[in-house]
Amino acid sequence: MTRAFITGIGGQDGGYLAERLLAEGVEVHALAHDQEPPPRVPGVELHSGDLTRTDEVRALLLDLSPDEVYNLAAISSVARSWDQPDLTAQVNGTAAVALMESALQVQDKRGSQVRFVQASSAEIFGQPEVTPQDETTAIRPVNPYGAAKAYAHLSADVYRRRDLHAVSAILYNHESPRRPATFVTRKITSTAAAIARGRAERLSLGNLDARRDWGWAPDYVDALVRAARADQPGDFVIATGVSHSVREFAAAAFRHAGIDDWEVLVDSDPALERPTDPTDLTGDAARARRQLGWAPTVGFEEIVGRMVDADLET
Ligand code: GDP
Repeated sequence: MTRAFITGIGGQDGGYLAERLLAEGVEVHALAHDQEPPPRVPGVELHSGDLTRTDEVRALLLDLSPDEVYNLAAISSVARSWDQPDLTAQVNGTAAVALMESALQVQDKRGSQVRFVQASSAEIFGQPEVTPQDETTAIRPVNPYGAAKAYAHLSADVYRRRDLHAVSAILYNHESPRRPATFVTRKITSTAAAIARGRAERLSLGNLDARRDWGWAPDYVDALVRAARADQPGDFVIATGVSHSVREFAAAAFRHAGIDDWEVLVDSDPALERPTDPTDLTGDAARARRQLGWAPTVGFEEIVGRMVDADLET
């Protein structure tokens, strides 16, 4: 039986990934952070700990000897990374690299391959000069989140050269009804639904012009599993190839909630704008299509619709 180890089990992707692996009959272990919300998935064996306590995590990994390691734990909000740049560097950077080293030590100890998947991010490209970006685009992050993710991303290649099956999946924004409202998509869908039901009056937003390539989270989790099991490890952009502005997302969400005249309900709050903010992140997933047989299955309007519907039901 395949044994997997997941960090970041309390997050959107951790939950979808655990469900997916359990359905396949994989034995799933996960690191549960003390302050994390309880995982949604029964059947996962939880090990309490903190990714930044690298010695403890290494001992745990050597003891469990997993076949697949998925590193999803992160300070996941770019906005928060500006407030806590050093914690972001530790969790998203140093601890991720320590986990790669632990996976290599497991591999050396047991003499058989360990497959490591790093959840990287389009934020490593910062303000890219080319659109869409692919695996060859210059890495030039513009915020603490992207800089820390870039360190871990580059380290995956270092560990590949040491014969670890280390994948870096460069994930573009991916959403679902499980996305926390700290992200703009869920903030918009939950507030639009609340306004439609008379439970809220207005929505405050920052930069409405930023463009993001929004995909469906379970599709991105599928890409992680495919990458873990690919013949060759590598870097893979995971994206839909189509971007939309925050304004377009808001328009689609309000329309789906039955509100056409939405712009009068939105306040512009400069405090929600970031010191620097990529204007357009759009990915070209041609390599993932070719080498992993991966393709997104849910488009923009459908993602918005599913999220609004879920919020209208609560
Ligand atoms: P990110 O791309 O990982 O930072 O995901 P977010 O969902 O947090 O932000 C996506 C884009 O929405 C960024 O360009 C933000 O500047 C923009 N944005 C505009 N208003 C808001 C807001 O109220 N909250 C958040 N989180 N982002 C906003």
